[in-house]
Amino acid sequence: SYRKGGYHAVRIADSFAAGRFIAQRKLGWGQFSTVWLAYDTQTSKYVALKIQKSAPEFVQAAVHEIEILSMITENDPKNEKCVVQLVDHFKHRGPNGQHLCMVLEFLGDSILHLIRFNRYKGINLNKIREICRCILTGLDYLHRELHILHTDLKPENILLVSTVNPSKDPIKSQTPPILERPEGSLTGGAAINVIEKKLKQRARQAVAKIAADRRGGAPEPKPERCLDGIDFRCKIVDLGNACCADKAVAEEIQTRQYRAPEVILQSGYSFPVDMWSFACTAFELATGEMMFAPKPGPGFSEDEDHLALMMELLGKMPRKIAIGGGRSKDYFDRHGDLKRIRRLKYSSLSRLLIDKFKFPETDAREFAEFLNPILDFDPEKRPTAQQCLQHPWLHQTPAKTTV
Ligand code: ATP
Ligand code: MG
Ligand code: MG
Repeated sequence: SYRKGGYHAVRIADSFAAGRFIAQRKLGWGQFSTVWLAYDTQTSKYVALKIQKSAPEFVQAAVHEIEILSMITENDPKNEKCVVQLVDHFKHRGPNGQHLCMVLEFLGDSILHLIRFNRYKGINLNKIREICRCILTGLDYLHRELHILHTDLKPENILLVSTVNPSKDPIKSQTPPILERPEGSLTGGAAINVIEKKLKQRARQAVAKIAADRRGGAPEPKPERCLDGIDFRCKIVDLGNACCADKAVAEEIQTRQYRAPEVILQSGYSFPVDMWSFACTAFELATGEMMFAPKPGPGFSEDEDHLALMMELLGKMPRKIAIGGGRSKDYFDRHGDLKRIRRLKYSSLSRLLIDKFKFPETDAREFAEFLNPILDFDPEKRPTAQQCLQHPWLHQTPAKTTV
């Protein structure tokens, strides 16, 4: 993709916007862009530089993303709404064409990264509550104040914000910035690096413990509760697929596993699609596994498997909903039963949490009580982000829950 119309090749120390931004290292990439850590010589801060591919369709997409990001930033002057902010934007000409560049506030790793360690019981439900509160705050802002749908909410698009020693900013001097600094004096990505190291260390300890248990009686390494005290704040990013509610026209939205039933059935959609993806994300945080990972099989499609998995976990879809979409006839008969997947193995969210993921019963019940309403097949019955923020599960005190 590093050709005409594609990505812009960046080397460390390349400068942008007439020397204002200096590239430091690659932070990530997507189908539309590469994202770089850059040093802003004007403000002496780090930023994330999202450099879009240069073909016209990508330029157009970037213009749209910049419009949405500008709205988000202008309406949140205190930067407290848990959605990424736009610092600036500019054009950059390179050998592959003219690239629109977005200057974003620099955030940390995505929560996908945290999820991978969850299997080792690295993050307890209290951390998940904190993360859920942030995501819901962001969604409430997008939905209620700006009338924007995100349409691609998933762990990869939620980035951590470091709050380790936020008062100190070690990156003030004009000397070339170094990311790895002694612990305790970190901001932004540097602090995230420390979290990452601790997570890795924790994972190794967990593996060592399992091995020791198998050997029987070997001394256990003391589990270090190194994540305690780290306040997991996060922000919603990647507004590339976001749209205004009254201009929601795309048929296929959302990443497969986080896709709401009304999108599959083409029954029309609005804000509740983001709520569905939120619930899938919260489940994944708590279990380390995707809630729905559909696959096509002999005689049925990926969509049909997806609908079957939903019903096995959440109960039979009400007939009215099942037959009410533009594509309903492809999947359901007139009774509201799937045409090609006949025998469903019904379970429930709390049973799954207890049996498969070994949740204590109370934790499982309470978490399921929080998630189940958000996974209503009827989008109109799903609670809004604002309503979810009031839910008692999010406000439970640490003492009440199992660590
Ligand atoms: P997609 O194909 O997902 O639409 P995209 O080209 O629109 O991708 P983004 O998803 O916005 O790009 O960003 C790509 C990656 O860059 C992210 O997954 C993340 O790892 C990193 N990234 C993006 N924004 C930031 C930021 N503000 N701070 C730190 N890292 C970031
Ligand atoms: Mg993305
Ligand atoms: Mg995108």
